[in-house]
Amino acid sequence: MYIHIPFCKKRCLYCDFFSTTQLERREEYVQAVLRELEQRKDEAGEPIRTIYIGGGTPSTLSIELTTAINQLITSYQPAEYTIEVNPGDVTKEYLQGLRSLGLNRLSMGVQSFQDELLQLIGRRHNARQAIEAVKIAQEAGFDNISIDLMYALPTQSMEQWKADIETALSLGIQHVSCYGLMYEEGTALTKMLEEGQIEAIDEDTENAMYDMLCDYLQQAGFVHYEVSNFALPGYEAKHNSAYWDHTPYIGIGAGAHSFIPPVRSWNPSDLDAYISGITAQNLQRESETLTKDDLYNERMMLGLRTNRGVTKSLIRKDISAYIANGLLRETEDGHIVATRQGIHILNRIIEDLMI
Ligand code: SF4
Repeated sequence: MYIHIPFCKKRCLYCDFFSTTQLERREEYVQAVLRELEQRKDEAGEPIRTIYIGGGTPSTLSIELTTAINQLITSYQPAEYTIEVNPGDVTKEYLQGLRSLGLNRLSMGVQSFQDELLQLIGRRHNARQAIEAVKIAQEAGFDNISIDLMYALPTQSMEQWKADIETALSLGIQHVSCYGLMYEEGTALTKMLEEGQIEAIDEDTENAMYDMLCDYLQQAGFVHYEVSNFALPGYEAKHNSAYWDHTPYIGIGAGAHSFIPPVRSWNPSDLDAYISGITAQNLQRESETLTKDDLYNERMMLGLRTNRGVTKSLIRKDISAYIANGLLRETEDGHIVATRQGIHILNRIIEDLMI
C-alpha cells in the first residue's frame, strides 16, 4: 500500500511531482485519506506486506495526524513500513514518535551534502541538518535508513560528488537511492536552463558520476540491486521491489496510483477533486487496462533495471550483439541482465526489446 501526502513547505526547483504548499489543508486532507482507507480496505484481496507513506513530504504532518492514519493501517502488520522525511523537519521527539507507531524504515530526501548545491536546487535543508537527521534517526532506533542522493546537478564537480558519496557512507545507513537530475518540462530549473542561467552537466561526466557511485558503494558492500538503488545485503526495499515485479498495490491519497492486474488506476492529482470526491463517495478515478503486450513491455523495462534481470525465455529479439558488445550478459541461472556499460544506454536497449 502506498499513501500519498502531497504537502511541501516549499517547492524544489526541479520537482514535477504532484505536491502543494497549502499546508493549512493538511487536516482536511488526512480526513479524506482516512475515509479512503475505510472505503477501500478490502480491495487488495490479500495481506498487505509493505506500506510506504510518500510525498510530497509526509514529515510535514504532525505526529497526531500520522497517528490517525496509522490507526487505520496498523492491523496490516506490514513487514516493511516506510515513511519519507525531509531532514529539515526531523527532531528526536518526532522520530521517536514515528518509531513508536511501528514505522521501521525511513527514506530521507538528502539529495546532497553541499550547501550551495542544495540552495541551487531549492531544497530547504542544509548539509549539517541532513547529517544530524540521520544521527537522530539512528538514536531514535531506526536501523533501516535510506537516503536519496542526486548527481549531475548544475556546477557539481566530481570532487563534490565524491565527497557526497563518502559522507553518505560514513553515516552507517543501509540503503541509497540515487538519481541523475532530470530537467522536467515546466519546472523552475528547466526555465533557468533555457534562459542560460545554469548549464547542464555533460553526458560523459554524468556517466562518470554514476560509475563512481557504483564503484564506491559496491566496495562498501552495497548490492546494486536496481539501476538507482543500492542496499546492504538484506536491506533491499521490499516495497519498491514489489512495484518491479508486478505485485498488486493500492495507492491512497491524491494522485496515488493503484495496480490490481491488469488494471492500473489513479486518483486525481488535485486536492479539491480528491477531497470532495472521497467525501461524496464518488471519487472519479481514471484507469487503464494493460494488454498482454503492455504487461510484457513493463516486465522487460522493470526487470532489466534490476540485478535479477529478466528470464532469457522472455526475450523475443536477437540480443547476441548486445551480449557480444558487453551491454547485456547471461547469468548462470538463465537470466539476462544489463552490464554497467549497458546501464548507460539502458533506455535505448529496453526500447529495442519492447514489442
Ligand atoms: S520535497 Fe519532494 S515533492 Fe516536495 S517539492 Fe521537493 S522534490 Fe518535490
